[in-house]
Parts: sequence; structure tokens; C-alpha cells
Amino acid sequence: MARIEPLAPGDLWPPDITGLVPGNDCTDHVYRFDAAVPGPHVLVNALMHGNEVCGAVAVATLLRAGIRPCRGSLTFSFANVEAFNHLDPQFPVLSRYMDEDMNRVWAPDILAGSGDSIERRRARSLWPLFAEADFLLDLHSMQHDTIPLMLAGRSARGRALAGRLGMPGFVVMDGGHAGGLRLIDHPRFTDGADGPVALLAECGRHQDRSSARTALAVTARFLAVTGAVATTALSPWLPSAEPPPPRFVEVTETVTVCSEQFRFLQDFKGMDIIPRAGTGFAVDAGRLLRTPHDDCVMIMPARVPMRGQTAVRLGRFRS
Ligand SMILES: [Zn+2]
Repeated sequence: MARIEPLAPGDLWPPDITGLVPGNDCTDHVYRFDAAVPGPHVLVNALMHGNEVCGAVAVATLLRAGIRPCRGSLTFSFANVEAFNHLDPQFPVLSRYMDEDMNRVWAPDILAGSGDSIERRRARSLWPLFAEADFLLDLHSMQHDTIPLMLAGRSARGRALAGRLGMPGFVVMDGGHAGGLRLIDHPRFTDGADGPVALLAECGRHQDRSSARTALAVTARFLAVTGAVATTALSPWLPSAEPPPPRFVEVTETVTVCSEQFRFLQDFKGMDIIPRAGTGFAVDAGRLLRTPHDDCVMIMPARVPMRGQTAVRLGRFRS
């Protein structure tokens, strides 16, 4: 079972993100560096969710190591610092956000609109920067899935970049959530045949130390593959050999919670495979929900399913 209880001594604890050497961007908790040689703008974001600290460990580690771009621009950002600063080790899950989920506010009309929340204000302050990124990696962790995943959205270019990275070993091609657009779903990163690319890495469970190691390795690989940073500078975190091609999972259905009575029929851990089509996997509003096809992959089942939010994504492996 995933845990709602306090962080334990052996868990991944929130890192210190103070005292980092500033870059040349004046937005708070944003660190931008420009190389003398022109090239793409590569951006790595952490803390879209305040309790997902593995990305913050990775970014703080790379900043403290003095990682700089060899061409173009490199930006590291910490998004929901307000929620992170409120992280109570007794109840870490409560610091996912302050007012609303920050990874559901990236629709252009919300960014341009007048609706107010702590998360919308921060998203509006970060968007001009994100809107300049050619390659963007958004670092997250999960409630109780231990298998790291790259979420590539629906775009061919997202899928292609995730394939080149090869880390982590699974790439999920999905269309997001009914609850609102994620950063990687912003039309800038999805529309048209060509253009900027954004990926979302789910690095493991929130409280696992291995999630921070995964976040560091995936980020190092991303910086190497995009050509932003010299591989020699990244060698402490890069894999020793070229990773094999990842496995691709296409989301066939996103299940949204309809009622307070939603419950799963099993304690799915994530990436569980249900062999037979028509197998019941959950009950919602008195209705049995069944798998739509054989070999149905249960992707990121919610630990606490909430009405209007995604309960689970169903998918199938693609060659
Ligand atoms: Zn997240």
C-alpha cells in the first residue's frame, strides 16, 4: 500500500534548495545559464508538485555541481516552491499543492485568464520562460508506482525524443487528464508537425531514495541527448552503457472518477497487466468498470481516487 503516514528516517526527504548560485534570470527559484555558442534552450523543471522532491534533489545536485550549458541556454526551475516550503514530514502528501493542482493549469485560456490561485500566479510567472524552451523535462514522482515512466503525451516528437532517451525503460503515450492541461499538454509542445518538445518523467515513488537517483540519471541523459551539456560533465550520473530502446505503452482509455463510491477491486501497483478483456477492475457509481481489451496495462492508479480526477489510465504495449 502507498503511505499517507510520515516520512521515515530512511525515506527521501526534502532537499535544501536555498543558497544555490543564481543564474541570469530574475524569476525566483529559476536558474538560467547561457553558453557563448548558440543552441537550443533546454529546461529542466522540478517541484510541479510540492511533495515530489526527487526532481528537486536532482536539480539541486546539478546546480551545486556547477553544471553549465556547452551551447544554447540551460534553465533549471523549481515550480511550486510555496507548496514545497509547506511540506510537513508528518503529512507529506498534503503539500502536493496549495490551492489547486499546478499541473492542470497550463491551458492557454487559463494562463491568460483572470482566475486566481497560488498555482496560477506561479504558472503565469513561469510561462514566459517555458514558452522559450525548445526541450523541456518536467520531473515528478508517484503515489505508489515503483516502476519509473516517461510520459510523452500524444505528439510524435515527444515519442521520438523519449525513444532516443531510452530512460526510464517505459514510455507512456497519453492524452492527459479531464481535470486540465499538464505543462506537457500545452499546444506549444503538442501542435503542429514540428516544434518544441516537453516530456514528463515519473521517477518512482515519492518517498523512495531510488526516485532521486532515477531523476538524476534521466536528467543527465536528457541534457546529454539534447546536446545542452558535455557528456564528460555529466558522467557521474549517466548510465555506463547506452540504454536499450524503451517499451512504449499507448493509453487506450483514461478513467475519470465519477462518484465518491469509486473503488478498485484490487490493490493495483502500477503497470500491472490484466490479461483478459472484460475483466472488472473497479466499481464506480454502482457500475462495474471492465478492461476494454486483452493485456490491459494499469497505468498510475490513484491511491486516493477523487471525483473528477483521473483514477487510472488503461493502456497496451506497442511495438
Ligand atoms: Zn507530479
